[in-house]
Amino acid sequence: MSDPTPKRTLATQVVHAGESRTRPASALATPIFQTATYVFEDTAEVVNFMEGSVNRIDYGRYGNPTVRVVEKKIAELEGAEDTIAFASGMAAIVTTCMTYTRAGAHVIIFSDCYRRTRGFVSKFLARFGVEHTVVPAGDIDAVERAITPKTRLIIAEVPTNPFQWILDLDALSAVARARGITTLIDSTFATPVNLRPMEHGIDLVLHSATKYLSGHNDVLCGAVAGSESAISLIRDVRNDFGGVLDPHAAYLVLRGMKTLALRVAQQNRTAARLAATLAEHPRIKNVWYPGHPSHRDHALARRLMDGFGGVVTFELDGDPAGTSRFVDRCLIPRIAPSLGGVESLIEQPALMSYFDMAPEQRAALGLHETIVRYAVGIEDTEEIIADIQQALDPTPR
Ligand code: PLP
Repeated sequence: MSDPTPKRTLATQVVHAGESRTRPASALATPIFQTATYVFEDTAEVVNFMEGSVNRIDYGRYGNPTVRVVEKKIAELEGAEDTIAFASGMAAIVTTCMTYTRAGAHVIIFSDCYRRTRGFVSKFLARFGVEHTVVPAGDIDAVERAITPKTRLIIAEVPTNPFQWILDLDALSAVARARGITTLIDSTFATPVNLRPMEHGIDLVLHSATKYLSGHNDVLCGAVAGSESAISLIRDVRNDFGGVLDPHAAYLVLRGMKTLALRVAQQNRTAARLAATLAEHPRIKNVWYPGHPSHRDHALARRLMDGFGGVVTFELDGDPAGTSRFVDRCLIPRIAPSLGGVESLIEQPALMSYFDMAPEQRAALGLHETIVRYAVGIEDTEEIIADIQQALDPTPR
């Protein structure tokens, strides 16, 4: 018999996936189930639940129906069996790392992963006897060399921040699978609109849903997608750690996700235009955008991705003070950390996320103060371009 549900495109999935057609009180929007606990009709139901013959939620740290819709929606978009949601991206990372490691285990992490993920692995996990190796951005040979019999987890990001290096996920998953090692890809910058790492053999896909998935710079959320068995292991640890997504936050994530495909398509378009404009400008020394032919990983990005994201990183041909004056002259983007929301945001990474890093360490990573990260929002493309042009070419007063 043929499957009655046709395979939907992502634009339809973001609206409907995970949501049942019958809703409490016939409400169209998924309601916010604002409850910390759930009642049993009688003691017989308690006993049935405890014995496992009734499947339901008994307490808010173990589940919530609004949160569950978020989890099911992300699972469908990623092509995963299941997903687990968290109070933040970092709660997702920490809980997943704690699920897959123990004293004596070894973790491999790429040098260009989110700095707090690296910090957690190198400082915090180390306190519990978990060893790690940091491998250079994009270097799969280095991963192979770093693997030991104790390696349990490989953590990478695609694309990375701020240079947006792309990793060959097929090669990585082949290396890891041959040795039974779990792979975790932080796909926050890509979103399932542009990349679905599980299609390339990756085991776990992580999102700071604070960024593109929720998309409005108004809520924090994390998520990990994977097989049913992997997610149930992580869920068990989350039930102890308690980093659960609040139902109000879940509602905002759900509402934001309805427009994910529209927003990301617009952000892809604007970022591509911005990268092309900057690449031609005499005041710009370098542009890093995986959709631009000048990017080191452009061919790989074209192979893996359906779109190239909304972040453009570039370097001004000038000094740090001149770069700051340029940033201050931009009228559309606001100066703030984060990305992926409807508002364009701009920052000099050396003055923001990497401010507390020693200058020589920053220099080793190529993070000069003349580098700017522009995370485009959904404002009009041509107005964003005109704004950047006026900031680069101010008319003399
Ligand atoms: N992963 C990436 C790539 C990020 O950029 C961030 C935050 O900036 C995180 C994870 C952490 O997410 P959250 O801020 O939601 O805890």
